[in-house]
Amino acid sequence: EGVPVAVIGRPNVGKSTLINRLFGEARVLVYDAPGTTRDSIAVPFERDGQRYTLIDTAGVRRRSQVPEGVEKLSVVKSLEAIERASVVLLVTDAQEGITEQDARLAGHVLQAGRALVVVINKWDGLGPEQRRKVRRDLDLRFAFLGFARHHFVSARHGTGVGLLLGSVDRAH
Ligand code: GDP
Ligand code: MG
Repeated sequence: EGVPVAVIGRPNVGKSTLINRLFGEARVLVYDAPGTTRDSIAVPFERDGQRYTLIDTAGVRRRSQVPEGVEKLSVVKSLEAIERASVVLLVTDAQEGITEQDARLAGHVLQAGRALVVVINKWDGLGPEQRRKVRRDLDLRFAFLGFARHHFVSARHGTGVGLLLGSVDRAH
């Protein structure tokens, strides 16, 4: 089957927006795969001839049902998603800055031995000074990652999103 990919991150960083973007130009193959529960679902999709399975623990079933950032950060759900994935997209919010919580989640991914791709979302609308600050914070908080691939994207506008799956392929 497709590469199992999990999208994790703090509430409101733009996970749902990103997933919609990824699905937007993809062929979503099945909505209700066998073994799907209300809280955990695997959505197979195909993009550029590659197959992936989105591991979603927030119960995202279809685009219209993507929740609007109301969920709390559930570390248990994140850990579950990490376990089931082979590549983890860790979404962070450039406008809020890179936080300790982000670093903690990244630590969980490494601890589980999964491939990590760091997504710095909401890169739109940031001035040069803010961008410098985010890069500094990345160096500071994610220093222990060193080798992790990272992408500056705007899920809202789609900028940079197309390159993410390339990193997923290479990390896999
Ligand atoms: P989630 O809680 O991680 O699933 O986050 P959502 O996808 O619900 O997004 C939370 C908020 O951030 C929403 O108001 C989105 O419109 C906004 N948002 C998401 N992606 C971007 C982005 O790339 N740029 C900007 N400026 N806002 C974004
Ligand atoms: Mg969401």
